[in-house]
Amino acid sequence: MNESKKITHDKVPNFIRSIILEDLEMGKNEGRVHTRFPPEPNGYLHIGHAKAICLNFGLAEEFGGLCNLRFDDTNPIKEEEAYIRAIQEDVKWLGFDWEDRLYYASDYFDQMADYAVQLIRAGKAYVDDMSSDEIREYRGTLKEPGKESLYRNRSVKENMDLFERMRAGEFRDGSRVLRAKIDMASGNLNMRDPVMYRILHAKHHRTGEKWCIYPLYDWAHGLEDSIESITHSICTLEFEDHRPLYDWFLDQLNIFHPQQIEFARLNLSFTVMSKRRLLELVRKKVVRGWDDPRMPTISGLRRRGYTPQSIRDFCERIGVAKRDSVVDMALLEHCVRNDLNQNAPRVMGVLHPLRVVIKNYPEEQVEEFDAPYFPDDPPRMGSRKVPFSREIYIEQADFQENPSKKYFRLAPSREVRLRWAYYVKCIHVVKDDKTGEIVEIHCTYDPETKGGWAPDGRKVKGTIHWVSASHALEAEVHLYDHLFAVSDPDNAEGETDWMSHLNPHSLEILKSCMVEPSLARAEPGNHYQFERQGYFCVDPDSSAEKLVFNRTVSLRDSWVKIEKANQGK
Ligand code: ATP
Ligand code: MG
Repeated sequence: MNESKKITHDKVPNFIRSIILEDLEMGKNEGRVHTRFPPEPNGYLHIGHAKAICLNFGLAEEFGGLCNLRFDDTNPIKEEEAYIRAIQEDVKWLGFDWEDRLYYASDYFDQMADYAVQLIRAGKAYVDDMSSDEIREYRGTLKEPGKESLYRNRSVKENMDLFERMRAGEFRDGSRVLRAKIDMASGNLNMRDPVMYRILHAKHHRTGEKWCIYPLYDWAHGLEDSIESITHSICTLEFEDHRPLYDWFLDQLNIFHPQQIEFARLNLSFTVMSKRRLLELVRKKVVRGWDDPRMPTISGLRRRGYTPQSIRDFCERIGVAKRDSVVDMALLEHCVRNDLNQNAPRVMGVLHPLRVVIKNYPEEQVEEFDAPYFPDDPPRMGSRKVPFSREIYIEQADFQENPSKKYFRLAPSREVRLRWAYYVKCIHVVKDDKTGEIVEIHCTYDPETKGGWAPDGRKVKGTIHWVSASHALEAEVHLYDHLFAVSDPDNAEGETDWMSHLNPHSLEILKSCMVEPSLARAEPGNHYQFERQGYFCVDPDSSAEKLVFNRTVSLRDSWVKIEKANQGK
């Protein structure tokens, strides 16, 4: 091998990269790298798909290759146009481009049927009249070999005739199938004469009424890859045992042979990931839709405030492996926090407002403070004006009447800094006569501390955020917690039904939050850090009349702790 041709790169090594590098060095496939992302359009994409997308598009990009987007639309019953649109939107949003390579498995139905005829002619496929129950029964088990179907030894002529008639619509659904003739005693159950075609009189979203036989996944998938000249067909581990079957089909047909490589699927704690389950959550209205911010779907994460960069970063960090594992949700949150920490402008919003009257501040006076959007880097994005007046709102939690030892925020006779504004001191607490609840705080301010610094050098321990009562905008804020109360709802002990583990507190709606007036300009999808409260994203349904924010994540990062604990193990 020519050493100078050796390809090197700076990415973290993983076994798939190693395989591709080796193939390139050996000159396999004329040095081509061609991958694909092949979703079935029967649901929205989730974060597990993001892993597959980043892997396939990412490897193609890295090695100067190509990646196709292919809809694996072989099942006309579960598939919908809406899913096809949503999937394309999500892949684009993640930042990947299939250019002119958008394909549909259904485009290959003719070609697949021709291949089937080729196998029938070679005596490698037969029409079986047994019912699906009988086929299952004859299949045997891992311990016992299967039994041959009574129809297995039909002549080529008879098989050709029956298959043509299946295709012409002469038979009812489920009455016959086309099967590969391989080996009913094989140790690999997938090789025991798998079904290739079933009869299904159903309208397909692209081919309409043209077909009443549809190919099964195991027959179709390898052919799709071969037809598109995919070099590296990357899929999840559960298909490892199917690989000998795909190889068998390709070898019998003697057509281009992609190399299948399996990797472990992504599982995430505190959620479910299978499309079937996500669909159930949508259908049963447990969530408001596929893009509910609690869903692990890409559209849900987007609505929640996740950025494409944070998801790509997450996918890079989790890497690819051959062994199944569950990734901690805290890592995903860590990635978005990291991104938003660098990119979300800082503003002030009060989630649980408590009115404060500054008694010595002139009634009609309004001052404006210049507050940088990025306090650590003021020139970046500049600043906005924050109005200050006699009445403001602070967080209820930023006042304690009887402060505990480690509480440094506002309390009777105590002074704190109002961010960007003044020092204020609490002089009086107003309570509801009947309930005893604190309804208002009275303070005085020190005019000498303008901007938040005392010329006499006197220090305060607490700095709190606030908004001017007469200038603030009312906003609805949605706070989220895990959708499930247990870390592995699919396999939780005790209760059998995964739905019984839903977290009843996964959504908290705060109707009358108060945010600073600069947020009147906030557009759906904009990200902010509300100081001390976390990262927030403007909801698509938000409008000037009704502002709605979703909290993406709080500021507290539990990942760093978890990682340290793991390292200590
Ligand atoms: P689900 O099991 O969630 O219903 P699926 O595998 O049936 O998903 P497909 O539409 O067939 O969904 O998936 C498209 C591609 O995404 C496949 O190549 C599959 O391997 C990959 N994929 C699906 N789920 C995951 C996951 N959790 N982690 C990594 N890759 C995944
Ligand atoms: Mg699938």
